[in-house]
Amino acid sequence: MKNLIITSVISLVFSFHSFGFQNVEQVEIKTQKLSQQVYLLQGAGGNIGILTGPDGVFMIDDQFAALSEKIVTAINQLSDQPVRYLVNTHHHGDHTGGNKNFDEQGALILAHENVRERLKEKATDSTAGVPVITFNDQLNLHVNGNDVMVLHVHNAHTDGDALVYLPQSNVLHTGDTFFNGMFPYIDLSSGGSVDGDIEAAEKGLSIINEKTKIIPGHGNLASHQDYSDYLLMLKSIRKNVKKKIDEGATEDEIARDESITAMFYTDEVASDFFIDGEKIRRTFYKSLKK
Ligand SMILES: [Zn+2]
Repeated sequence: MKNLIITSVISLVFSFHSFGFQNVEQVEIKTQKLSQQVYLLQGAGGNIGILTGPDGVFMIDDQFAALSEKIVTAINQLSDQPVRYLVNTHHHGDHTGGNKNFDEQGALILAHENVRERLKEKATDSTAGVPVITFNDQLNLHVNGNDVMVLHVHNAHTDGDALVYLPQSNVLHTGDTFFNGMFPYIDLSSGGSVDGDIEAAEKGLSIINEKTKIIPGHGNLASHQDYSDYLLMLKSIRKNVKKKIDEGATEDEIARDESITAMFYTDEVASDFFIDGEKIRRTFYKSLKK
């Protein structure tokens, strides 16, 4: 238990630092209404999607455990119903850290089967917060008058990513397969890959339309254009890195070569990102070399 707490604190500090937050007290949960029943909540960590209605609150991702109380307070402003369903877009702690708290409050947790495996491994003292309903390819729910499509995309940001699309409300939550306004984090050590991330964005764009409101894993609410630009960025960086590899460039040479990525964000601009210019170039190199 002690180890668990220490690990949680370390990952909390690490992630807060990475996204520019110093402590829990200072985190404010901001709510943005996207449609009649759907809201975006932003605090620290991954973006949260909320679908309200008579069947209970349907929630997408839950940030860190330390923020659960604040998140519940924000949800209570939107609905007098409890959180009944919680879907995790992937296993990372800044998206699933609150699982145990929401589980204990009665939420049913759903995720891709690889997310369950990874969270089960981490859960040392109890299985509270581990997803109880899993899927392999796709899961459809019908709650609050909305069809909810949960689609697995293979080896994108991790090996357990899901896109969550609500066609009636016309909102898509991409999880971390889309970072808006910055370079993405592609977790190669958890089964992520550049080609999978590209395919995930292609898949997402293929099911939505021009008017869809897109909740990225990180960054502000996005438009179809933002999402298309992101896909173009991934494809362009892939092409540039591939060309350098074919010319015989080493990982370090590619990591130092700002011209590969500067047309999107210069290294100076990207120095504030979780993934800076050098890191994104190394990621693409490693993923394409695999
Ligand atoms: Zn993530």
